[in-house]
Amino acid sequence: MKQPLKTSNGNTLLIVHSGTINTDAGPDFFNAKVKIDDTLWAGNIEIHINASDWKNHKHQSDKKYDNVILHVVYHYDTEVFYANGKPIPTLEIKNIIPPLMLRKYHQLQLQQNTIACEKIIVLPSSLNLTNWLGRLLIERLQDKCEFFESLLIQNNNHWEESFYTITARYFGMKTNAQPFEWLAQNLPLSVLAKHKNSLIQVEALVFGVAGFLEEDYQNSYINLMKREFDFLKTKYNLKPIDKSVWKFARTRPANFPSVRLVQFASLIYHSSHLLSKVLEAKNIQELIKLYSINPNKKLNPFLFIAHQTNAKQTPLGKSSIELLLINTVLPVLFLYGKRNDKEELSERALIFYEDIKPENNAISRFWQSLGIEIKSSFESQALIQLKNKYCNELKCLSCNIGKEILLNNNA
Ligand code: SF4
Repeated sequence: MKQPLKTSNGNTLLIVHSGTINTDAGPDFFNAKVKIDDTLWAGNIEIHINASDWKNHKHQSDKKYDNVILHVVYHYDTEVFYANGKPIPTLEIKNIIPPLMLRKYHQLQLQQNTIACEKIIVLPSSLNLTNWLGRLLIERLQDKCEFFESLLIQNNNHWEESFYTITARYFGMKTNAQPFEWLAQNLPLSVLAKHKNSLIQVEALVFGVAGFLEEDYQNSYINLMKREFDFLKTKYNLKPIDKSVWKFARTRPANFPSVRLVQFASLIYHSSHLLSKVLEAKNIQELIKLYSINPNKKLNPFLFIAHQTNAKQTPLGKSSIELLLINTVLPVLFLYGKRNDKEELSERALIFYEDIKPENNAISRFWQSLGIEIKSSFESQALIQLKNKYCNELKCLSCNIGKEILLNNNA
């Protein structure tokens, strides 16, 4: 049986609830509960290497620390007091942490490999690992939703408009994400919706606001688009962006902005109320079908003018659609469920991640080289979060793999 904990004053201590971690200013854990002898206390916990850090950090004169109920220190080098002169209950952990655990922790902190535990990794049980990956995926989705949440604020909580903007960004990939976002901002979805039954008008609006119809071309289809756009531009007071913002250099022909604009126009033309359709999709096949759009059969001449002779008019490939779902559509579906008390939609987003194959990128290949089998994008996304937000920042104590290593006597 474990020894009961004792405070530095010899009182019996039970940590009933360690509280929630606080990453902002103030005590390290909020809303904790501890029992000291027979009294239950509710409040905050502060952690330091030395007890004297309390004074060094001037907590005695900082009101944020008035409600600290327990001071946890590695080394109890001095007694510290509340403003009223009473001693703060303190737990010293120097003699509680097993030396082997401490040694392994130092070993992790000093590792020079790609990740700290690369040479000593110990995986938790499959249930524990699955739970940990699930938590990581949810964290990743919350991170991914931050940008979308800022769009919602900009668009007065208009979900379809914000979804249209974030979808546009995706079509720009990394290189042309910003021009695509400007395009969506200058071309409201409400304008496109009024012309969704005419492909030539949708293409004219997209290429026109993208700045491609400001010059003269010797091509009858482009001239037709130009005439349509001149009329619509005046009608809706549209402001084309400068064509020079689009980047063709160092871009594969399949990702040329002109190719992506054709695909984007095609998606808009074929799928009005896109977000509503995403919310209605019952399985991953329905979602993939929604984005499997064949562009206009008539070849768009913009694919064949200067710099673009290698470009082809192609539909979005299955891999591109899966990446679009992973990075853009499913995070929004997850957030929509959370924000609108429709938990079943958030859960559906997680299930869809399980139905998409894992991405093949440097991070997933790295985890595979350590013997971790990655079965779906649920796991590959979680492992990206683990690498970027935990391993790279040496947060091994907050990682379930790290805890397994520290607790495992054979590692
Ligand atoms: S955060 Fe976890 S997986 Fe990453 S290096 Fe530390 S213990 Fe290993």
